[in-house]
Amino acid sequence: MTEESQPTVFSLIIDRKIPADIVYENDAVIAFKDINPKAPVHLLVVPKNPAFRNVSELAAGDPTILAEVVRVAKELATKFCGGEYRLVFNEGESAGQTVFHVHAHVLGSGLDGALTEGSLGD
Ligand code: AMP
Repeated sequence: MTEESQPTVFSLIIDRKIPADIVYENDAVIAFKDINPKAPVHLLVVPKNPAFRNVSELAAGDPTILAEVVRVAKELATKFCGGEYRLVFNEGESAGQTVFHVHAHVLGSGLDGALTEGSLGD
């Protein structure tokens, strides 16, 4: 197996080879709590198909799944933070992407308080 084809940490979570705090799953996507949260609510919504490294590839290759990621993000935001949320896709190392298996960050304030502008900054 080449380095390129090593499963990502998210594939390991999908395959239950490493644990995660899973909050949603269907045939197409899985969602779990980010291990290093940057906001009171910080979830990741991940297509199960590992073929797409970033959101541009997903939009071009399978826009239906991108729409499903957005739908699930809204459903989870409604459950965890009152329906208002920030949806972030990092694309490329210089933009902060560290896992090259497309995923959406769902960031929210929780049910009391607001998300500050700096809450995504490292
Ligand atoms: P990105 O920097 O956009 O590629 O986002 C990757 C995210 O995955 C980061 O916010 C990490 O904290 C998160 N992450 C990495 N490993 C795990 C894990 N095992 N469980 C949950 N979240 C993880």
